[in-house]
Amino acid sequence: MAASQSSWRQRLTKSRGVFSTISSLRSGVSQGDWESAQAALLRADVGVSMTTQILEDARERVKKNGGDLVAALSESLVEQLHATASDDERVLRTSENPDAVSVWLMVGVNGVGKTTTIAKLAYREKQSGRAVLLAAGDTFRAAAAEQLSTWGKRIGVDVITGGEGADPGSVVFDSVSAAKARGISLVIADTAGRLHTKTNLIAELAKIRRVGDRPPGEVCEVLLVLDATTGQNGLQQVAEFTKAVGVTGVVLTKLDGSARGGVVIAIEKELSVPIKLVGTGESMEDLMVFEPQGFIDALLAP
Ligand code: GDP
Repeated sequence: MAASQSSWRQRLTKSRGVFSTISSLRSGVSQGDWESAQAALLRADVGVSMTTQILEDARERVKKNGGDLVAALSESLVEQLHATASDDERVLRTSENPDAVSVWLMVGVNGVGKTTTIAKLAYREKQSGRAVLLAAGDTFRAAAAEQLSTWGKRIGVDVITGGEGADPGSVVFDSVSAAKARGISLVIADTAGRLHTKTNLIAELAKIRRVGDRPPGEVCEVLLVLDATTGQNGLQQVAEFTKAVGVTGVVLTKLDGSARGGVVIAIEKELSVPIKLVGTGESMEDLMVFEPQGFIDALLAP
């Protein structure tokens, strides 16, 4: 699912709007140009400390190699992102054990786009020929299981539900058993949206993870779904969820409607958690594997 640069550009119109100040500086390296670049990075929510680092790095590059400011910034930004994870490391992992059922656990606060992302992933896996089962582990709200079941029907993927108030761990356990019995090697598990500040609910996630890891289950990914429009506020969520449940990657949703795409850099550099996927719309197809070069090129495109 490698995305072409043009599709990144088409999908990130809002983020591009902010960085366009930088692209207009293409030939300039005056003090005023650097200040404009700094303002654009801050506006895009790259964050103060990362903006400083990136500008210093870009300045060094211009001093050493000549060239323009945009090229130097682009190189610096892409390099920063590649340092967190290689392109291969952004691909979602499944178990190498042929007898195991891989589990992808989806976590995050309410309303970020968790259910939609599960549907997009299920659709993607099905399109690529892999059978998948969905676990409706959000047992707090009956509507959550219904929403997932509706998506499941539309995509043609089975959903295991436990009823309102059921133990989410047991829904995950039952889903792994059902997958094993049906010869399905991947379960994507929903969990109830919870605030990262509610420590008892966060502790419950750790329990769900342990259950998912009971053979034949193997938790291969814990994906934190994050709404790109929350910008820097998302950083705290990543930190708390990572502490509690060991997040293996971030899915950044709503990047199509956010002018804060720069938060990608802050998340990766300040928290060392790779962005693995990006949501760019409300339909099943609107999911892209995150790819630093395409993303940065799109942001800096004139
Ligand atoms: P949940 O509460 O985390 O499960 O969130 P939902 O999956 O129900 O999504 C909340 C809202 O965000 C819905 O209206 C979705 O259509 C919308 N949404 C989800 N992902 C994206 C995205 O990548 N882009 C846009 N524009 N909207 C999205």
